[in-house]
Amino acid sequence: MASLYQLPCSSCDRTLQVSITQAGEELNCSCGVQISVPTMREIKLLPEVKNASISAKRTTRAWSAAQGALFAIGVIMLASAIYMHVRLSNARSQIDIRRPQFVELDFDIQDLNPYYAWKTWETVVASTNGTGLMRPRRPPEFLERRKTHARLTQYRTASWVVGAIGLAGIGTAFFVRQKR
Ligand SMILES: [Zn+2]
Repeated sequence: MASLYQLPCSSCDRTLQVSITQAGEELNCSCGVQISVPTMREIKLLPEVKNASISAKRTTRAWSAAQGALFAIGVIMLASAIYMHVRLSNARSQIDIRRPQFVELDFDIQDLNPYYAWKTWETVVASTNGTGLMRPRRPPEFLERRKTHARLTQYRTASWVVGAIGLAGIGTAFFVRQKR
């Protein structure tokens, strides 16, 4: 690793780290002033940056095991959440939750001829088994479908929560890394 030297800025108290290979270059200090790097011989007269190789090593340092695990779990959670979102959305969109249209009766009871009126009465009596009570009917199918639809909506919302937690884990892994 080449040695770095401290080149002071001409207008502020910052120093720029330069190597001898940068001789003659123009650099910009963070204060906005442009600084000319002197000749190789003059650079060598500048104070040397100590521990340059150590600080360089630290920036490329690998993630800790905890960070890696957090990142991996976050990715897995986010990926499964996206997969579940797609699967649930597809299943949900295939469920028809429209209320079926009922055919309106286009006749008045007064207009029924006596034969059909008698037949209708017989049908009603048969459906009550002579007890006078209507047999319990299953809830209409579209209501069952609506329940399934609502349940899939809940599952999908849950998958978003899982995805958000995964994303937070990934973000935390990156944030902790920058802090070091
Ligand atoms: Zn400066």
